[in-house]
Amino acid sequence: MFSTFFINICVMITFMYVSGIIAKFYSIRLPFPSLRVQLIGGLLFGIYGTVLMNYSFPLNETTIVDLRHLAIVTAAVYMGGLASVFTGLMISVLRILMFGISSSAIDAGFVMTLIGLSGVYFAYAPWSRLTKIITMNLLGMTLIFIILMLNTDSMNSLMKIYPLQMTISFAGGLFIYFIAEFINKSNEMLFLLEKRASTDHLTNLSNRRQFEKSLQLELQRARDYQQKLSLLAIDIDRFKKVNDTYGHSAGDAVLKQLGQLLVEHARSADIVSRNGGEEFAILLLDCGHRQAVATAESIRQAVEKYHFALPDGHTTRLTISIGVAVYPDHCDDHDDDDFFEQADRALYEAKNTGRNRVCALTFRSLPLTL
Ligand code: GH3
Ligand code: MG
Ligand code: MG
Repeated sequence: MFSTFFINICVMITFMYVSGIIAKFYSIRLPFPSLRVQLIGGLLFGIYGTVLMNYSFPLNETTIVDLRHLAIVTAAVYMGGLASVFTGLMISVLRILMFGISSSAIDAGFVMTLIGLSGVYFAYAPWSRLTKIITMNLLGMTLIFIILMLNTDSMNSLMKIYPLQMTISFAGGLFIYFIAEFINKSNEMLFLLEKRASTDHLTNLSNRRQFEKSLQLELQRARDYQQKLSLLAIDIDRFKKVNDTYGHSAGDAVLKQLGQLLVEHARSADIVSRNGGEEFAILLLDCGHRQAVATAESIRQAVEKYHFALPDGHTTRLTISIGVAVYPDHCDDHDDDDFFEQADRALYEAKNTGRNRVCALTFRSLPLTL
């Protein structure tokens, strides 16, 4: 009996570990992922439950039970209602496909489907995950007990053995909870670290590291599809004065609002980043010289008109300078860093020729002031 219990636990841990790896690989956040993920997850947990069916406990000569309902409980609590229903249905259907149709197969199928449906309630109940697992597990065990009671020849022997099955199922549920919480927490930590490593904490835009990655990726894409790619290097004019006049936190508030303004003026596919301090950049995908200059000019004008709210309730105005470079017009095709350097050169030119202006390169290395 205990060796079977041990095998059940090992099988469950293996499946949950594999599920954790899949969730990590596809960046799936639990609980309640999309309905498509719930559907696929439900089918997967249906297979897990069916495998558990092969490691059953003999209660007496005529009755065997297993922990397959725990696959449904796990699907409901960690994925959601749809996953729960699909796991229940999968287990019922696979049971019939594997062992043929019989009255016990129909009874078992009915109970598993019922447990799956109950998961729609448990998944979204306002309880802790531990409470959900315990109560849904108990409900499942009660339903299984009713079916066993209706089918048993010897109620006495069932009553003698069933408390043990109940205990094992309860322990299995707790085990699942601790393992699933551990896996889920470590995935969440990883997602958080990945986000922090690629995001600027103040503006929530991409940071410089992520920007450099995107730049390489988009340059490669532009090469592969022979598209143009434009880069706007943006720097706030005399930003030091904002800090000196209103304080550092006012400067931070301005940086946040400018980040938002840039996102609003870029297309949704474009990549907006804060590359450090008061320097921003926008990668305009599939965008040639004329369109890039027009976009830069509209951003410059929008910033010039904008009233930036300060923490003390006042507002302030400021301007930005923008340098524009376009791949492949302005950069060395074999040097990815050259693209950024060309945009920076154009920005430098904009600063040197009076600020609050857009400066683009007409052809490689010769800046043109607008
Ligand atoms: P220019 O027109 O030549 O660009 O002048 P500038 O004052 O904008 O440029 P400078 O490089 O001299 O100063 C940039 C300032 O940006 C200095 C620094 O205090 C401020 N700064 C950098 N990072 C942050 C930040 O995270 N928050 C705030 N509030 N200020 C920052
Ligand atoms: Mg600067
Ligand atoms: Mg500046």
